[in-house]
Amino acid sequence: MASEFALIARHFSRPTPHTVLGVGDDCALIAPRAGHELLVSSDMLVAGTHFLADTDPGRLGWKTAAVNLSDIAAMGGAPRWITLALALPAADEAWIGALAEGFAECCAAHGVDWVGGDTTRGPLTLCATVLGEAPAGCAIRRSGAQPGDEVWISGTPGRAALGLRHLLDATPLAADWQAPCVTALEQPLPRVELGQGLRGIATAMLDVSDGLCGDLAHILAASACGAVLEEAALPLAPLVAACGDPALARRCLLSGGDDYELLFTAPPGQRAAVDRLSARTGLPLHRIGLCTAEPGLRLRGPDGHAVPLAPTGFDHFA
Ligand code: ADP
Ligand code: MG
Repeated sequence: MASEFALIARHFSRPTPHTVLGVGDDCALIAPRAGHELLVSSDMLVAGTHFLADTDPGRLGWKTAAVNLSDIAAMGGAPRWITLALALPAADEAWIGALAEGFAECCAAHGVDWVGGDTTRGPLTLCATVLGEAPAGCAIRRSGAQPGDEVWISGTPGRAALGLRHLLDATPLAADWQAPCVTALEQPLPRVELGQGLRGIATAMLDVSDGLCGDLAHILAASACGAVLEEAALPLAPLVAACGDPALARRCLLSGGDDYELLFTAPPGQRAAVDRLSARTGLPLHRIGLCTAEPGLRLRGPDGHAVPLAPTGFDHFA
């Protein structure tokens, strides 16, 4: 088995062009830009809880970086530096090499330097900590939504939940939807360009990791308002095409997690700006509802009637 230090030298020491000092000393040294605030976030992935133990290591490495970068994107920040702490049951070098490659690839795609970490023996667990920057005062929090703001979601949320059901043999998917749904689950794309583009446009934002309703409820609680979602505006068609079951499609869209799409609110006067950003990023942005002074989350069906929606996000301790 390779030693901890050989593993670090071979797989975890990468070029860090945006960093004063990278891997190899007791700490990395970074120099944030003047006039910027630092954003810091950690995300841990535990085998059996957050991923299937037989997941392809390259994809797992990608996802570990992506879910961390997504948190920076969700506040309108630019992700800049990341560390990776690893607990590994055994030093399977091919597996570790593939994991490191996938992690580094996602970082490189967004100009993020992998500046350090920790490597230890233990039950398979991956924990990354990412640092990002935003001009002082410009990060987009969860607390800024106002009654009258519109609710938007990026991309095609619900695909990752369908991908998981496909892998677990719970739901057969149409042949041409299998790869997109499994890729949405295993290699999510952090919406980094979109997040920064929404500075000055979005009033509140987060990335959907635990389900659209549950995560929207976090914005509503932080902003002390409510919202009505329009069923007709939800991007359900691709999910129905994938699984052929409208009720399941709706459930995956509203409460499936793991897509890492951005959910945000913006005043109606910003519609044109949001549409321009959608064109620039090549990412569909769907206007799915409206914030209300009345608290709670409701869904308006085709009959015009709004019914309460349970905030059914994923909760590890529920
Ligand atoms: P220390 O004992 O001083 O904490 P370590 O032996 O844990 O140092 O790590 C040595 C160097 O290797 C440090 O710069 C650390 O950031 C880096 N390192 C260790 N594990 C990883 C990893 N998984 N990814 C990136 N860098 C790592
Ligand atoms: Mg250490």
